Parts: sequence; structure tokens; C-alpha cells
Amino acid sequence: MREYLKFYIGGQWVDPASDTTFDVIDPATEEVAGKVAAGNATDVDRAVSAARAALPAWSATTVAARIALLQSVLDVYGKRSADLGAALTEEMGAPASLANGFQVQLAAGHLVKAIELLEEFSFEEQRGPTLVVKEPIGVCGLITPWNWPMNQIAVKLFPALATGNTVVLKPSERSPFTGQIFAEILDAAGVPAGVFNLVQGDGLGVGVPLSAHPDVDMVSFTGSTRAGIEIARNAAPTVKRVTQELGGKGPNIVLDDASFAANVAGGVGAMMGNSGQTCSAPARMLVPAARMAEAIAIAKETAATVTVGDPHGDFTIGPVVAGSQFDHIQALIQKGIDEGATLVAGGTGRPDGLERGFYVKPTVFANVTSEMAIAREEIFGPVLVILGYADLDQAVEIANDTEYGLAAYVNGEDLDTARSLARRIRAGWVNINDGFDFGCPFGGYKKSGNGREWGDFGFQEYLEVKGILGYAPDDAAS
Ligand code: NAD
Repeated sequence: MREYLKFYIGGQWVDPASDTTFDVIDPATEEVAGKVAAGNATDVDRAVSAARAALPAWSATTVAARIALLQSVLDVYGKRSADLGAALTEEMGAPASLANGFQVQLAAGHLVKAIELLEEFSFEEQRGPTLVVKEPIGVCGLITPWNWPMNQIAVKLFPALATGNTVVLKPSERSPFTGQIFAEILDAAGVPAGVFNLVQGDGLGVGVPLSAHPDVDMVSFTGSTRAGIEIARNAAPTVKRVTQELGGKGPNIVLDDASFAANVAGGVGAMMGNSGQTCSAPARMLVPAARMAEAIAIAKETAATVTVGDPHGDFTIGPVVAGSQFDHIQALIQKGIDEGATLVAGGTGRPDGLERGFYVKPTVFANVTSEMAIAREEIFGPVLVILGYADLDQAVEIANDTEYGLAAYVNGEDLDTARSLARRIRAGWVNINDGFDFGCPFGGYKKSGNGREWGDFGFQEYLEVKGILGYAPDDAAS
């Protein structure tokens, strides 16, 4: 059993202000996997003071010095990646293949990208008589969720440090182990005291005081729309910048062409990965109405190949993160049945032979309509819904008929059609035919949030822009 009873503040492992702790439940066994110190407003104060004290020196470091530090973080990260993967499997039940494989590489990819970008990023730009200078915002509060915990920390932490800010990180109380190991990595890599600080705890105890803190200049949040709204409200009196990466209900338009079968199968698989606990998941598959029966047959066959079981074993997916999440998913599956959608695969209850652990059956509904709760609400489980479209105009209409606007997908052979659909979808990140690019901006329209992460867009989030008029008076005419 893990015990993490100290926070990382001002370059030291320090005792928390109170001796309150919380348990972390292993979702595969429902047993306690660890005990972690629970922070409060006093711990937040200490961490923010340390970050503030470290800011003048860190923000004045050269780009070369920052690259050197991030390179050292990358080296230590490489040595600890197996530990991160193991911790992730314990805290959220991610299968070893996903935890040690893709998640570890994804987070490292953001670090590599930050180093590459630093080598070429322009922090100053001369525009005629004006100099535009991009400066670090200052002390940043980073509040992250549990579903892709390493990625969510990496995508905030590395751009924030690369651009000269100091930070206080609060990982999700459901995934504190990976957060703690990140702190160990930064410590071992020689991050200067106070540049990075870690306080563990829940939203009320740590997230609220961090977002309201008068000496925090910016809060970057990823999580539910509910918490994002509360954070913006708590941050408002101090007029700090707030970026919100929130929920989603991504449409996946499958075109009517020869790649249809492969794209339906691919869409089912993509939805089930990480037990469906992905904000950018292709949660609503849109198929030509005339091919619904075909889609049902393919989806049924594909769902049957998604195996569920012990995340330490050789299964496609493990459990979902917690009992409350299990109950939420079960209730929505039942709602789909009650609303009259066609249950193609899965359904309520636990998969056979898995009586302990928060395991959910890979579930597919077809003949779903946009009014149904399963088409509107973020289920955050291995549950795919399939809707039919009469023509491409209707496909766009259905794709946009949501309060969210995070990820969207278009899959098909005709690139011109895919491009034109991608332009018409109101979402911040649209993926044509399974693309991947660390430089592609990621973030949401509508209730999926504001702000953008990944690549140089991620850098801009942590920079203030200063225009100095008259800096070069001789260039006034240009
Ligand atoms: P959550 O909102 O419950 O918690 C996220 C984090 O916020 C946790 O660290 C939590 O302790 C903290 N928190 C909760 N209430 C708070 C408050 N009032 N003030 C300050 N902090 C608070 O979300 P979750 O269940 O951990 O994550 C799942 C959600 O995250 C889903 O809705 C998912 O779509 C979303 N998500 C979005 C993205 C994205 O990039 N847009 C990525 C991953 C997850």
C-alpha cells in the first residue's frame, strides 16, 4: 500500500498543515491502494508563497537554462516511466498496456514538444514602432482530473515552466499517485526551489482556495463543466486568467464509402479505449441512416472483441475509476433502454465473472436520436451511441446539436468532403481519419471550455502580452 504524507513545497518535502488523509481505492479490487495527505487553505498559502518567491529568478532565466532543466526532467522521467505506469494502473485501473505504453509516451511527447518549441519560440516581436513582448503570467494554479492524469499534468506543467512561470499543482484526489511521482521526478531533475509545488487534496479543500487565491495569477483547469464554472466564479473577484478544458460528447461522422466498415469498427474501438473515460472520445457515431443495419452488425461484432478484466492482465479495458462513476454509467445505460434505443451490445450489470471491481460491459446503442439522454450527456464510460443521418447537412446539424464542442471526428475516403464537414463542425479539435499531431491546438467551443493546449497554443496560455509603443520610434513609418 502506498503512503504519500508529505507535500512538495519550496523544494522540500514538507508536513501538511493538518494530519487529515484520504484513501485511494483501487477500482479493480475496490480495496484501499493508498493513503494520501489532504491539503487545506494553509497548505495552499504556503505553496503559493513559495511559488511567488521563486518567480523573479525563474522568470529571468535564459531559454537555454530552461531547456537544460526540461531536458533533465525528460531524462529522469524516462527512468521513472515504469513507476508512473504502475501507479496509474493502481489508481484508475488503466490496463498496463495503456498505462505503461500510450499514457507514458503521450506525457513525454508534450515534454519533448515543449523543449523543441522553446528552441524556436519568439518571446519578442518588433512591429513597426511597437515591440510586442510575451512575458510569463506569474504564479499558476494547475488543477487536473483523473482520467488521463499524466497527460493532463504534462500538457499544463511543461508549457507553464517552459515559458517562465512558477506553479502549484493539485492533481485529482482520485489519481494522486502519478501526481506525487511527477513531483519526485521534478525534484530529482533539480528544479529550483519553489518553481514547482505540489499540494494534494480534493476540490473543496485545495481547488477552491487555489482558484480564489489573490496571489495566484492564473488557473488552468481540466475537468467537469460543473467544477469549471465554480472555478471561474471563485477566480472572478481577483480577475485572474482562467482556462477551462471541460467535458465533451464528440461526434464521429462516418462517410458513406468503401471505408465504412473499417471506420465503424475503428470508431467502436476508439470509444472503448480507457473504458470510455476520455473527454475527446468519439462518443456519438453518425452513420448514413440507410446503412444503420450494417453499422449495427459491425458494431456488435467489434464490441464482442473488447475484453474487460483485471488491468494487470491482458484485457482491452479495465474497470472505470470509481463506484460513483459505475453507478452514473449504469443509470445512463438504463435510461437508454427506457428511452427506446436499440441495445446492440452490453447493457446494465457487471460483465460475467467480475463481481468485484467497477467493471462495465462494453455497450453500444443504435437508432439513437439527439433528444435522448444518452446522446446528450457525457457518460464517461465504455458506451457508444449510434445515430443515423439522411444527408451531410443533417450530419452536421446532429454533430452540432450539443452543448459541448471539444473533439469531433470525420472518417471517410473523400478528403474534400471530410474537409468541408470539419470546417462546419463547431468544435475546437476535429480529427480527419485518425490524425495525430502534438502541435495541433486542443480545446473546446461552447461548454467544453475556453483556452487551448498542446504545442505553441499551450505556450500562449501562460504568457502575458505587452505592447511597448514607441520602442523603436525610427520605425514609425514602417
Ligand atoms: P472534476 O471536475 O470532478 O475534477 C477535476 C479536478 O477539479 C480535480 O482535481 C478536483 O479535485 C478539482 N475540483 C473539483 N471541484 C472543484 C472546485 N469547486 N474548485 C476547484 N477544483 C475543483 O472532473 P473529473 O471527474 O476529475 O474529470 C472528468 C471530467 O474532466 C470530464 O467531464 C471530462 O470530460 C473532463 N476532461 C476534460 C478534458 C479536456 O481537455 N477538455 C480532458 C480530460 C477530462
